[in-house]
Amino acid sequence: NNFKDFNLNKDILKSLNNLNYKKPSRVQSEVIPSLLKKENVIVKSKTGSGKTASFGIPICESIDINDNSVQALIVAPTRELALQIKEEISLIGRLKKIRCSAIFGKQPIKEQITELKQRVHIVVATPGRIIDHIGRGTIKLDKIKFFIIDEADKMLNKGFIEDMETILSRLPNESIKGLFSATIDENISSICNEYMRNPVTIEI
Ligand code: AMP
Repeated sequence: NNFKDFNLNKDILKSLNNLNYKKPSRVQSEVIPSLLKKENVIVKSKTGSGKTASFGIPICESIDINDNSVQALIVAPTRELALQIKEEISLIGRLKKIRCSAIFGKQPIKEQITELKQRVHIVVATPGRIIDHIGRGTIKLDKIKFFIIDEADKMLNKGFIEDMETILSRLPNESIKGLFSATIDENISSICNEYMRNPVTIEI
């Protein structure tokens, strides 16, 4: 199969070509069409499989560039991972002029507040700091179309379960949710059962 089969915006196809992504990886072949169909997904897959682009591509495809509000939120357990995700999504969305910000702890909150006031379509964040912004009202969740939890197993190990539930309970009902994890244990399954409607499970 081919990225052209997904009916993607030509700017995104061009960006994928610039990134030298010739063909979708296995996880991308499964996840991209599901997210484009607005299905919630639970994905068991390792790093190196191309999982970042598997949610990055459909998110970039679905962003309304004329709407300046945050339309996708991605949470990751560490700032290194958050930055990596932000870099890749920025490249995928570059020609479509999508703006993506990374928001994490131990950085001046004032600068983040200024950044969030500008045109930002996608936010990649670590849980603690994004909860802080939600509490302050400096990030609005009402226009969120996609919410992705990356490396969910590490997230729960770090004690972020309550933070995840706080975010999940405040998202618009119709938002599409994706959970990515190397392992799926009972804690993860129970969150999925509670907050995701009819999720599709994809195991690579
Ligand atoms: P990830 O699993 O998201 O950490 O991705 C692993 C690496 O594969 C990253 O460096 C990506 O830039 C790269 N990558 C992702 N999708 C593709 C693709 N379809 N073709 C070639 N490389 C890719």
